Amino acid sequence: MGANLDWGNLGFAYVRTPYRYVSDFKDGKWDEGRLTGEDKIVMSECAGVLQYAQTCFEGLKAYTTADGKIVTFRPDLNAERMENSAKRLEMPVFPKERFLEAVDKVVAANRDYVPPYGSGATLYIRPFMFGSSEVIGVKPAKEYQFRMFCTPVGPYFKEGVRPIVIRVSDFDRAAPRGTGHIKAGLNYAMSLHAIVDAHNNGFEENMYLDPATRTYVEETGGANFIFITKDGKLVTPLSDSILPSITRRSICYVAEHYLGLKVEHRKVKFEEVKDFAECGLCGTAAVISPVGIINDHGKEIKLPSGMKKMGEITKKLYDTLTGIQMGKIEAPEGWIREIK
Ligand SMILES: *Cc1c(COP(=O)(O)O)cnc(C)c1O
Repeated sequence: MGANLDWGNLGFAYVRTPYRYVSDFKDGKWDEGRLTGEDKIVMSECAGVLQYAQTCFEGLKAYTTADGKIVTFRPDLNAERMENSAKRLEMPVFPKERFLEAVDKVVAANRDYVPPYGSGATLYIRPFMFGSSEVIGVKPAKEYQFRMFCTPVGPYFKEGVRPIVIRVSDFDRAAPRGTGHIKAGLNYAMSLHAIVDAHNNGFEENMYLDPATRTYVEETGGANFIFITKDGKLVTPLSDSILPSITRRSICYVAEHYLGLKVEHRKVKFEEVKDFAECGLCGTAAVISPVGIINDHGKEIKLPSGMKKMGEITKKLYDTLTGIQMGKIEAPEGWIREIK
């Protein structure tokens, strides 16, 4: 049993697994879909995705729990979010029930690539959809492909949890009333220059501020912010141009219902950030990555939790949520979907 990979030393890179799920949209409807071993896509050079970036995606994980079950975490929310992304990009919706079925099929077919419990590694699942038919005048494609592959990824914190240094970006991630709230490839294309530039300057991530006034905190290129106040409240930024992270929404629930914390989802002024006790980035990949320093054009905001470890409350949130995911703490109804 098992693909016999060196689970603990896997990075976050594509490893081809045997099966992926494909369904094509043609003549106004989705075909019945299939698992395939074919990892290459052949399409017109004039496909909508290649010319006008008509594509959206999702990201979720499958992993082995303490009692040996293979599960996914809240995949229904990924299905719903992808529905919203598709609508905003004038793409057909891939039905939620079929999305969930595809997750089950892809994970089950690649069962050997689901890392064992305790390895810290997981099976990353990448659903995506793109316009596959020819488009030269600007308009939505007529044909689409929905595809879902998976790839095993290593533990996010290989050498233990380490707070990161981020900077306030001079670039914008999303426009007001634009596409920041959907998981579109185009948002990432826009952010590539900003992240390469951040890395070249020694920063791990960009903190984006609201593009209209540059006074409120938005998010990073691929993770939402959580803040802890000095009196122990959880604060998460509210904005129409933030991608609604499933991890962040789960953390807010855990904070309130498991840890009894006060939770505020509201606009957060950048000016306030210096008064917070802890800061973290949340997303499927790391669950929570603690932030130690935020560099604002040479001026450093040092979070009191420091550069050695996760803040105390951040750690509790992290331990509780990962405990729920790994089956060590009872999950709220409907959060865990077992793959048979
Ligand atoms: C995917 C994504 C996140 C994290 O969302 P999760 O559902 O928690 O993985 C945050 N911000 C952006 C811009 C994203 O694309």
